[in-house]
Amino acid sequence: MPQTNKSRSASASGSCTGPDRGEEREEEREEAEPEPKVQVQEAGDGGGENTGDPEIIKSPSDPKQYRYIELTNGLRVLLISDFTGPASSGDDESEEEEELGEEEEEEEDSGEETEEESEEEEDDKDSDFEDDEDGGKRKKGHSEKQSAAALCVGIGSFSDPNDLPGLAHFLEHMVFMGSEKYPSENGFDAFLKKHGGSDNASTDCERTVFQFDVQRKKFREALDRWAQFFICPLMIRDAIDREVEAVDSEYQLAKPSDSHRKEMLFGSLAKPGHPMGKFCWGNAQTLKTEPRKKKINVYKRLRSFWKRHYSAHYMTLAVQSKEKLDTLEEWVKEIFSGVPNNAQPKPDFSELLDPFDTPAFNKLYRVVPVRKVHALTITWSLPPQEKHYRVKPLHYISWLIGHEGTGSILSILRRKCWAMALFGGNSETGFDQNSTYSIFSISITLTDQGFQNFYQVAHLVFQYLKMLQSLGPQQRIYEEIQKIEANEFHYQEQTDPIEYVEDICENMQLFPKEHFLTGDQLMFQYSPEVISAALSLLTPDRSNLLLLSPDHEGHCPLREKWFGTHYSIEDIQQEWRERWNGDFEHNSDLQLPVENKFIATDFSLKQSDCPDTELPVRVTANDRGCLWYKKDNKFNIPKAYIRFHLISPVIQQSAKNLVLFDLLVNILGHNLAEPAYEADVAQLDYKLSVGEHGLVIKVKGFNHKLPLLFHLILDHLADFSACQDVFNMFSEQLKKAYFNILIRPEKLGKDVRLLVLEHGRWSMVEKYQALADGGLTVEQLMEFSRTFKTQLYAEGLVQGNFTSQESIQFLQYVTDKLQFSKLPAEVSVLFRVVELPLKQHLCKVKALNKGDANSEVTVYYQVHTHTHTDAHGGALL
Ligand SMILES: [Zn+2]
Repeated sequence: MPQTNKSRSASASGSCTGPDRGEEREEEREEAEPEPKVQVQEAGDGGGENTGDPEIIKSPSDPKQYRYIELTNGLRVLLISDFTGPASSGDDESEEEEELGEEEEEEEDSGEETEEESEEEEDDKDSDFEDDEDGGKRKKGHSEKQSAAALCVGIGSFSDPNDLPGLAHFLEHMVFMGSEKYPSENGFDAFLKKHGGSDNASTDCERTVFQFDVQRKKFREALDRWAQFFICPLMIRDAIDREVEAVDSEYQLAKPSDSHRKEMLFGSLAKPGHPMGKFCWGNAQTLKTEPRKKKINVYKRLRSFWKRHYSAHYMTLAVQSKEKLDTLEEWVKEIFSGVPNNAQPKPDFSELLDPFDTPAFNKLYRVVPVRKVHALTITWSLPPQEKHYRVKPLHYISWLIGHEGTGSILSILRRKCWAMALFGGNSETGFDQNSTYSIFSISITLTDQGFQNFYQVAHLVFQYLKMLQSLGPQQRIYEEIQKIEANEFHYQEQTDPIEYVEDICENMQLFPKEHFLTGDQLMFQYSPEVISAALSLLTPDRSNLLLLSPDHEGHCPLREKWFGTHYSIEDIQQEWRERWNGDFEHNSDLQLPVENKFIATDFSLKQSDCPDTELPVRVTANDRGCLWYKKDNKFNIPKAYIRFHLISPVIQQSAKNLVLFDLLVNILGHNLAEPAYEADVAQLDYKLSVGEHGLVIKVKGFNHKLPLLFHLILDHLADFSACQDVFNMFSEQLKKAYFNILIRPEKLGKDVRLLVLEHGRWSMVEKYQALADGGLTVEQLMEFSRTFKTQLYAEGLVQGNFTSQESIQFLQYVTDKLQFSKLPAEVSVLFRVVELPLKQHLCKVKALNKGDANSEVTVYYQVHTHTHTDAHGGALL
């Protein structure tokens, strides 16, 4: 799938295959509803009370008002008011709900991991140092009533001095250790905690972002406390050693991540002295041990770095609250005018072009990964593309590279059973795109067979690129993508304020004022010249090949300096080099994507056919299933969410059945990948999950063509089939997925905890053994599939822009299509938890990855055991 950019990927929910976006057909525009357009703000809000800035382009479904101001010290500020009139007094009901179809459920440690993991790889690509105290899990839907602010300083790790790697990151931590006005070291965190808020910060190559949120009534005070870190931070000597430990533990946490390791290794290929090669994480060695040896005064250096680099004239601030714009303006002026401006020019790295123009780049790097996975990454280093944000050439190219329909790279690789997944593009993090270069990379998760034939895999990618180069940019496809992005922008859902301001303050560094809200998302202008220029550089002789495989263990004598990654370098095989240097042949199986039938053109809102309810109601039920229904009356958008749970007792009968069920769901996903990709790109999202007691099918998106996708999934389930090759590929892949779960302390810990608490549960080790012992056959899988579908209970929920009568049709389709009979007895969909004896118990588990220095502690409290006990109520520390 194409790589989504940073702000967008935050809202991406995990679908089995494609991206969260779709494409829209050009000629269907004519007959479509009034085409979604961006709109400029109406001046005023009924009486000019809360007047926004008309030049800032915003979505028609965005109720917020925006105003841009510049303070006398040069600080640029975007004020965001979600004030909705005096009656609501900051508690507007519609703001309480989460976005439609938002998922908030436990992870399922299943074979699905194969997909999940590759998504995680994507997330991990973010080169920021996330300092999230919640362990990266943001409390979704909880803080939508919050007020939030974010500030971006236009400098980052590129400005690290050579003798103090990680200083920018370290400073990002240190500024928070009290201010002259509020000297208490952890005062700000304590204040936020007390008032339902949170904060975070991250350091990127050329930007550093700070953000927090808090209850509205404490917002002004929180702003004042927070602003002091940019006005007069204490940064006392005593705190330095303590905080170095925090930075060091972030480094330790990042170390076992293959994507971070890959990034660090890649950075090390930059020309000597280029900032892309910097060790921006920092650790105890670079920030404590070494400076001590060299008599470097870290305290002084932190202060001078702050003085030189934290200057108001290249800071951008976004502030959002349910206040009027005038109020926000007054507060910001009062509070932030004291941020100093040092009048020095902003550090500029744009002269340092072509960081990877070295002989070491166009080689094959073999790498030993932490996880059991074979993957090929092909990377190009291009001139910086940020300035082409109106055209987004890399987004266009990655759309095609990442396509999964007929004629795509992945489609052919899947058919050969060589690859599981493919991601391509530029994630728009500072590491992927900055003032010195832009990356374009394609990562392919390979099967054993694919790994054996990795040169062939690379060849197929080069053939596809060659096809794109000779066909040239396609206006039809560009306009489809353009339409999709505009649709998404038009019907956007409101995001959490803290995430929103975080994105916006960074956008303010990159785009002119009118594009603060749109610059990272919309495609403004088709330019074949700009696209061709980027496309023409994606050739074999300019590429870097990085091949990850556990099979490389013992054959990689080199070690990357900071993360210790084992790797080796070799020339690209002469045979292939010569072939690629010549005029190599086209591959007639490769084609551009065709237009697709899943695109919504009807965006009308349906009239309700039953009384409004606050919660979903059961609108039909019989002994084979039931359907819950809730009409959307709040969001008023032409979207819907469908979820079905197909419950069966056979899944939990044995560890073997659990494995067969994982295989069933994975192979079903594989069978659907190509036909459903068309739906995916039309902004219809689906996900198949392995529930503990059943198959969970989730579908969401524009409601118009949603039934088509739902039917497609049910049809594939009804006619489930698996050939021997596919069965082998998924057995092999599942074994790796189980292994990768077992080596992660937090996952292993959870598995052991649940094993203690829930009798009748099968452990991951048992599942791994059932699979590793061999003996599972494709016939057994088909037999399991038949048994599973014979007796079921189907429970469904339909929510959004459907009537209740239309919703009932979904249940009808399930029962008609699968033709199952009722369950002999009711199946409990929750495990019973044992009552623990009243004392403390300690269960120690030895982690299975020796190279991972991290520990995981779970404290589980059991309360009120005579009533309902939440099996997952343990607090994670
Ligand atoms: Zn950090």
